[in-house]
Amino acid sequence: MKTLTTTARTVCPYCAVGCHLDLVVENGRVRGLDYAVNSPVNAGRLCARGHAALEILTHPERLTRPRQRAAYGWTTVSWNEALDAAAENIQRILSSHGPQALAFLTTAKGTNEENYLIQKLARTLGTHNVDHCARLCHASTLTGLGPMLGMGAATNPLSDLARSHCLFFVGSNLAENHPVAFRWVQEAKDAGAKIVVADPRRTPTAWIADLYLPVRPGTDLALLAAMLHVIFRDGLQNSPFMAQRTSGVEALRASVSRTDPSWAAPITGVPARDIVRAAHLYAKAPRAALIYCMGVTQHALGTETVRACADLALVTGHIGTQGTGLYPVRGQDNVQGACDMGALSGFLPGYRPVTDPQARRFFEEAWGIPKGTLPAASGLTVTDIEQEAGKSIRGVIAVGENPLVTSPNTGRIREALQRLDFFMVMDLFLTETAELAHLVLPAAAWAEKSGSRTNTDRRVQWSPQVVPPPGQAHPDGQMVIELAHRLGLGRYFSYDGPEAVLEEIRRVVPTYAGITAQRLRAHHEGIPWPCLDDTHPGTPVLYENRFATEDGRARLYPLEFGALPEVPDANYPYCLTTGRGKLHYNSGAMTRRTTSLMARAPHLVVELHPEDAEREGFRPEEPVWVVSRRGTVKARVHVTQAIRPGIVFLPFHFPDANRLTQDVLDPWAKIPEYKSASCRLEKVTRE
Ligand code: SF4
Repeated sequence: MKTLTTTARTVCPYCAVGCHLDLVVENGRVRGLDYAVNSPVNAGRLCARGHAALEILTHPERLTRPRQRAAYGWTTVSWNEALDAAAENIQRILSSHGPQALAFLTTAKGTNEENYLIQKLARTLGTHNVDHCARLCHASTLTGLGPMLGMGAATNPLSDLARSHCLFFVGSNLAENHPVAFRWVQEAKDAGAKIVVADPRRTPTAWIADLYLPVRPGTDLALLAAMLHVIFRDGLQNSPFMAQRTSGVEALRASVSRTDPSWAAPITGVPARDIVRAAHLYAKAPRAALIYCMGVTQHALGTETVRACADLALVTGHIGTQGTGLYPVRGQDNVQGACDMGALSGFLPGYRPVTDPQARRFFEEAWGIPKGTLPAASGLTVTDIEQEAGKSIRGVIAVGENPLVTSPNTGRIREALQRLDFFMVMDLFLTETAELAHLVLPAAAWAEKSGSRTNTDRRVQWSPQVVPPPGQAHPDGQMVIELAHRLGLGRYFSYDGPEAVLEEIRRVVPTYAGITAQRLRAHHEGIPWPCLDDTHPGTPVLYENRFATEDGRARLYPLEFGALPEVPDANYPYCLTTGRGKLHYNSGAMTRRTTSLMARAPHLVVELHPEDAEREGFRPEEPVWVVSRRGTVKARVHVTQAIRPGIVFLPFHFPDANRLTQDVLDPWAKIPEYKSASCRLEKVTRE
């Protein structure tokens, strides 16, 4: 038989850098990877996760048939039986309890079109109970940046980092977590830029820092407030910029009048002179960028800390031009797009608040659904849904989410999900969460479906279907459409493919108005939103002339300081912080099944300082118990100078790490406090 070989350009299914993966396809099967050397995103580079992505497509544990829970375990069912059972259970809950008893967890691993469809299904049924994992990673970016700047997104392209004279990283380990993007930081460094890194761990990002600030977990707000104090005190603010383009400076200045470096030093653990140096390096640079990640957002004070980041950029005028800006670096490949599509309990597509009657009316008309279908109040967030599961929430449909690994205090989540009348999961694998479901539908992976995705710098890219899904697996979007038809909503879900869904998106989300599948296919480099019409080139840099607020001015926020919900004491003397490792990805559902990655990172480790290891009598690689007020997990000791004494670090990719974390929430974003809990360490005396 003649061999037919083609190459198809797809987008990496892991992090939000959005690297291109060129798949080599022979006679309809993926045979390997080619490096996308002409890609403006990754120029052929891939990290270990990207290199290993193909394993997922042919993994022997992939779900290939729907399965339903029976008295004796699982039973496989046909596709029609599975969808009939799903529709029947949803109808029963609707009839008995009404639409507010249903909740949908959608996914940042899905395409824009899939997220749009899932939120539309929830809302067409009459509930805003639809949310996704952004609630657990960057919800505080939306609640922080949105009211201040008008949009909760990165202001500049990642490539712009190479143009900065100073790069200030707060709670971001870009070198390991978004490794391909780190090349632009190295380019800036080679050109003479100063690198400042604030992190409790001396990560590989900090290895190239000119100034490293070993801030204690949960105290970034105090650090940033002290830097703002220094900037005002030493006259480093950009007064013309503030006068022309911002409001609220006096309230901000008053709120940081007492937060001098000598106040912040004992709170943060950062020497006062280094706080001053950091403020001067950032403020005096002709162009400076501030890069933050979950070290800032995943806190009970997450929104306040994001506001402090934005205040710094605005006070110094480091925003609105190339080489400056704010970079809330997203984790999953399409977390930006899922937010844009309204996969949030408080926002319709395009960030129109559900509480706005005009917005509700607009979508009811656009979708052709009866007036009054959309409730006037916000729905439940991920964290609310988990609280209410088995109480006011009777049924949950989870698409590609694995809360039994990713949510805080997971012991409580397990109990809650087990109380549900109906729990349905769509996923690639039988994840820890799927094991609790009543019904599991097998889903297609990234290269098995077509659609658009939006990376962390708002770049919308098309990723085509290259191979068919295995067995009876289907794209999430197709499953949602078929379910909608069975629920009697077919007239609102009449699409002949993801291209048609994107056509609808561009009619209702103004920032996507000029984005079509045809354009995205023609422009492999993608189009950064806002893209306002068919000929608009997209907008790499936001806020060049005006902010996206009503009056065009950015709003400076005065800072308020709250206490940490839990601090070390005699029983729990260590501060526990969590984060990403360099090889695994989020809940590990894919990477813990990838042999090449597991060979290098096979189990949960707990990092601690040599002084702490010696005092506890722990040897490297020894298994120990990590104990918090909420649970106990076993991890192997990794002794490292990279972490401060008194602090221990757990990567969150393995089951149980989040049994230890706190479910205390940020009041604005409802994001949990993942980054600071108290714990103790105990010898494992019996395996
Ligand atoms: Fe994939 Fe991110 Fe690695 Fe690029 S940096 S290959 S997008 S995981």
